[in-house]
Amino acid sequence: MTEDNLVYLLDGKVYINLTNSCTNNCVFCIRDIKDDVVGANLFLSSENVKAEDVIAQLEKIHEKLSSEIIFCGYGEPMLKLDIIKEVAKYIKEKYPNTIIRINTNGQANLVYKRNVLPELKGLIDKFSISLNGENEEVYNRISLPKIEGAYTAVKDFIKEAVKEGFDTTATIVTGYKNYNVDMQKCIEITKDLGAKFRERPWIENGY
Ligand code: SF4
Repeated sequence: MTEDNLVYLLDGKVYINLTNSCTNNCVFCIRDIKDDVVGANLFLSSENVKAEDVIAQLEKIHEKLSSEIIFCGYGEPMLKLDIIKEVAKYIKEKYPNTIIRINTNGQANLVYKRNVLPELKGLIDKFSISLNGENEEVYNRISLPKIEGAYTAVKDFIKEAVKEGFDTTATIVTGYKNYNVDMQKCIEITKDLGAKFRERPWIENGY
């Protein structure tokens, strides 16, 4: 049993927070700015998160579980792929009408060196994937990826998610200091990849 906030509520939606780790180090990342997203302290004291602890915290707010549940939080959720699978399976079995989304940096296939998307079919409904820039140079300046080839891997992941039938949205963050992103080009890239597009204006309290 952990005291960490593995589950939190924001605008009536349920968010699941699995890790502090990430394969990026984005200039606007809330991890570097503050410990909480709109009041919920999300820094985990341990990376040893267990699916049963997540499920126990979900059940404490079971009346909210019929809306949308999002794996998101403070780091990159797909780094905890096995826990995502276990928790999503539990949710889909017990609350079959609940929509499950993952907000991700889209580098999972690069990290695991295999296409993990087919493993998430029937468990995950939607992906929101950070495109973050119109080319590798802009992406690297904004996201400071720790793994080479990240930008291409992100675009491939978006394309693959669409192909596998997930409801897929590519996102960019705008309005952070003087880090300019060419939104029109990002819209075109997203269209070519077959995904939806969303601009996420940067806000002080966590975007
Ligand atoms: S991908 Fe998300 S969690 Fe990772 S560094 Fe960027 S903003 Fe932070």
